[in-house]
Amino acid sequence: MRSEAFDFIIIGSGFGGSVSAMRLAEKGYRVVILEEGMEYRNQDFPRLNWNLRKYLWEPVFRCFGIQRISFLNRLMVLHGVGVGGGSLVYANTLMRPEDRIFQEPGWPKTQDWARELGSHYETASKMLGVTPNRYLAETDLVIRELSQKMEVPESFHPTQVGVFFGKSEVEVPDPYFGGEGPKRVGCNFCGSCMIGCPVGAKNTLDKNYLYFARKSGAKIFPGLRAEKIVPADQEGGIYTVTTVRSRSWLSSSGPSFRGKKVIVAAGALGTVKLLLKNRDRYRTLPHLSPRVGADMRSNGECLLGATSFDSAKNFSKGIAIGAAFHPDANTKIEGVRYPMGSGLLRFMGVPLTGEGNGFTRPLRMFFHIFSHPLRYLRLFLIRDWARSTVILLVMQSVDTKLRLRLGRSIFNFFRLGLKSEVQGTSLPSFLPVGQKAARLLGEIVDGVPQNVASEVLLQTPATAHILGGAIIGTSPNDGVIDVNHEVFSYPGLYVCDASCIPSNLAVNPSLTIAAMAERFASLFFPSESIDLGRSNTLKLNGKIS
Ligand SMILES: Cc1cc2nc3c(=O)[nH]c(=O)nc-3n(C[C@H](O)[C@H](O)[C@H](O)COP(=O)(O)OP(=O)(O)OC[C@H]3O[C@@H](n4cnc5c(N)ncnc54)[C@H](O)[C@@H]3O)c2cc1C
Repeated sequence: MRSEAFDFIIIGSGFGGSVSAMRLAEKGYRVVILEEGMEYRNQDFPRLNWNLRKYLWEPVFRCFGIQRISFLNRLMVLHGVGVGGGSLVYANTLMRPEDRIFQEPGWPKTQDWARELGSHYETASKMLGVTPNRYLAETDLVIRELSQKMEVPESFHPTQVGVFFGKSEVEVPDPYFGGEGPKRVGCNFCGSCMIGCPVGAKNTLDKNYLYFARKSGAKIFPGLRAEKIVPADQEGGIYTVTTVRSRSWLSSSGPSFRGKKVIVAAGALGTVKLLLKNRDRYRTLPHLSPRVGADMRSNGECLLGATSFDSAKNFSKGIAIGAAFHPDANTKIEGVRYPMGSGLLRFMGVPLTGEGNGFTRPLRMFFHIFSHPLRYLRLFLIRDWARSTVILLVMQSVDTKLRLRLGRSIFNFFRLGLKSEVQGTSLPSFLPVGQKAARLLGEIVDGVPQNVASEVLLQTPATAHILGGAIIGTSPNDGVIDVNHEVFSYPGLYVCDASCIPSNLAVNPSLTIAAMAERFASLFFPSESIDLGRSNTLKLNGKIS
């Protein structure tokens, strides 16, 4: 017996997938979402990030949490997993980039992106409940002092965030959608946003877009990883998507789904891996653009920080990212925190080295350690790392890129994964402005400024904002999808997530991904206006796919 056919199969339930699902389900389409991760309730999140089985996602080690860490040759990527995608683990920050970003060479000049996305930014901001952070905690005050020390006090600002600032820990009827949404609980500023909000104050996608997608009939299947995408014919008839059960030891196969259209929204790494596998391994999509996996960006990011020896300080209260500033026109710095007791990332920190190369930076690091052994021993033994540490997230719009291919590397020797290579100029493994900021931060908090170890020892920076790999373009020579998100050579196959973005944004990307998905979904007519029985091709407003 043939399985039920959906109008849209959506792969991944992060920002791109959830927005598309809600808008298309609302328009009357039959929508199914396949999600590799699990579905979580507030009480399912770990209390501390030391609880690896609940915090990390690595099914081979029976870890079924929300935080995935992928190691590429020249980049360490943090990304989210689960029903709600990266929204479960993200730091709530929802910023609109400056309009000048859309003038970067990657954005096709056929559209006025800043103008076209304008109303969609507004809709997405409303849906995600964007509001300025209302509580400047100790970390945020340190960030203000840092902006003063870097002589740009006027650029300091509280972040725009998706958090419900009702009465702390008090449940109220839905405050966002005229009572139609779920009940909500006010933020208690515990700082747990990035290990999973335990009170439900974070506006994760399951509390807005996915909630309404379900109300409009969308079905969500957690624990299924999409594996093969098989088109029935080159004209884009019915697609079949096969799945694998992500919790099973042996990756046993799951159900297959049939759909008139498929939207790949598996996040930048998930989407690139899926498309590369289907082009190069299974050969089910052999005509995908040669640019799949190219033009990946790290949002020009570096992570740094400083740990204080002053036990009176408590940097773990507040929301994950409460304040930011711009040390120069191309750079943004945000102050980040983890909740008290969540010190897992302490092993990532090594002494700040300043500028240098792959030889001089490790030398300097060891020199620091051996010339101040007691200081570093004390740092290593500090009781509550999260309480004592301010992390700096530095983002730049300067353009550097990676290319990903399928392959094995030392990080995925036993299974086929992604391998990266430099495309053009290599990603910077240090940013001079970041080094300066961390040094000054160390002075402010009376502690030890630090780099991420992989950056110093392996010249591998870390990013939580991976972008690109299936970018929008004008032809298969410069992109993987067209300006309406349809994959070149595959009518009815779309990509809508961080992988579409063709430049660094220099701000956190989720609001842009949501706005682009709002624009994408707005291109479809409501389902009543077309006869899906007769036509395999949906009409896009004014443009036919
Ligand atoms: C610790 C951390 C903090 C962050 N903080 C912020 C922040 O404050 N502000 C901000 O804007 N951004 C932040 N981000 C980044 C943000 O989470 C991502 O940019 C955003 O979630 C990307 O959205 P997306 O739609 O591309 O996909 P994602 O949200 O990554 O969702 C993709 C989903 O697809 C699923 N998937 C992958 N492959 C498959 C497959 N084959 N089959 C089925 N499902 C699959 C994944 O499990 C995942 O759930 C943060 C990220 C991290 C890790």
